[in-house]
Amino acid sequence: MSTLSNVTVLGATGSIGLSTLDVLARHPDRYQVHALSAHSRIDELAHLCLRHQPRYAVVPNDESASYLTQILQAKGCQTEVLAGAEALAQVASDAAVDTVMAAIVGAAGLLPTLAAVNAGKRVLLANKEALVMSGALFMQAVRNSGSVLLPIDSEHNAIFQCLPHDAASRDLTANGVEKIVLTASGGPFRTWTLEQLASVTPAQAVAHPNWSMGRKISVDSATLMNKGLEFIEACWLFDAKPSDIEVLVHPQSVIHSMVRYHDGSVIAQMGNPDMRTPIAHALAWPHRITAGVSPLDLTHIAQLNFEAPDTIKFPCLVLAQSAIAQGGTMPTTLNAANEVAVDAFLRGKLAFTAIAQVIEQVMNQSECSAANDLTAILAADAEARVRASHLVKAC
Ligand code: NAD
Ligand code: MG
Repeated sequence: MSTLSNVTVLGATGSIGLSTLDVLARHPDRYQVHALSAHSRIDELAHLCLRHQPRYAVVPNDESASYLTQILQAKGCQTEVLAGAEALAQVASDAAVDTVMAAIVGAAGLLPTLAAVNAGKRVLLANKEALVMSGALFMQAVRNSGSVLLPIDSEHNAIFQCLPHDAASRDLTANGVEKIVLTASGGPFRTWTLEQLASVTPAQAVAHPNWSMGRKISVDSATLMNKGLEFIEACWLFDAKPSDIEVLVHPQSVIHSMVRYHDGSVIAQMGNPDMRTPIAHALAWPHRITAGVSPLDLTHIAQLNFEAPDTIKFPCLVLAQSAIAQGGTMPTTLNAANEVAVDAFLRGKLAFTAIAQVIEQVMNQSECSAANDLTAILAADAEARVRASHLVKAC
């Protein structure tokens, strides 16, 4: 019997997907790729199939499926091509799968990630939007199925590493935790004035100083909405109250987050800003494997700086904190409005500073209802998208 662990990578052509495949390829004695998915860039997916020989590849529709099948058959590749949302859920929950990397960007990742959770898989969660929009339901599904949920977001992976894992309870206070300190780089515009922020272009916003990431999360990092989504993500992952979490700007992105204990100890997780570290950590946990990441050279870095976040220039963080404090469907509404506003900004249809304004107006127009089932969550998501699209058109 094979002892190889079967891994499905959802969002294989993205920044996290490619980093995951890089780590997997370093350990052919431990892992084999079961399935890969992509939404666009089908040529890139074909290349990945030829390189990693997955059992399945999933694309959005029949047209992409026949295009990919043609390329793969011409090269003698055995990968079976599937299409559509059901196929995504299938390769995430298949009996043969051990681990699912959830690396689709945005709300589109919710259903396949939940399928993996419901099937009790080991789920490596990069797709923070899925947890933000469905927090209570998602965590209940984890508890019901016994799924092992491991955070990939570098901050949450760091916090996970700084918390005790042999603790009898998940209760932060019982474990002596005083504060979770969520670090933030501050993004590319940390030192810009409000006037300068009004004229930020998409090209400037996607050029992050420390991390190489997809376009949506790069814009989120620039507005600090990424930290807002991560604040909500941390509340769910670590069963934390908003008052348990403090955001600290640390421009070098060397400390990936910290936990402060009642006895005065502060435990930090450090490393070069390279997502292969949290990916390798979560793949192998509780063991350690190599990730291809260069060693941290603190002499070269020389200085670590810290400052409080500027919530006047970057109001998205406060909007996210308000959404989780309101609870119910408000984080779903925030997330959906943000996805629409960021997309409009990237298409040149919305000013950078209007992203927060659109989100705030959508939140003000939306009711906060109970988010106990998927129907309520998907309805809040759809409603917020309609409201945000109207506001974008009016801008
Ligand atoms: P990306 O844009 O580089 O890749 C996104 C992937 O999702 C691609 O494979 C794309 O084909 C797929 N995809 C996009 N829309 C889809 C849809 N509608 N249906 C199915 N698949 C779709 O994004 P990324 O930077 O790799 O980020 C992926 C997720 O990981 C995001 O939720 C992000 O917040 C999170 N994350 C990323 C980083 C990072 O360093 N890149 C760090 C922490 C968390
Ligand atoms: Mg992060």
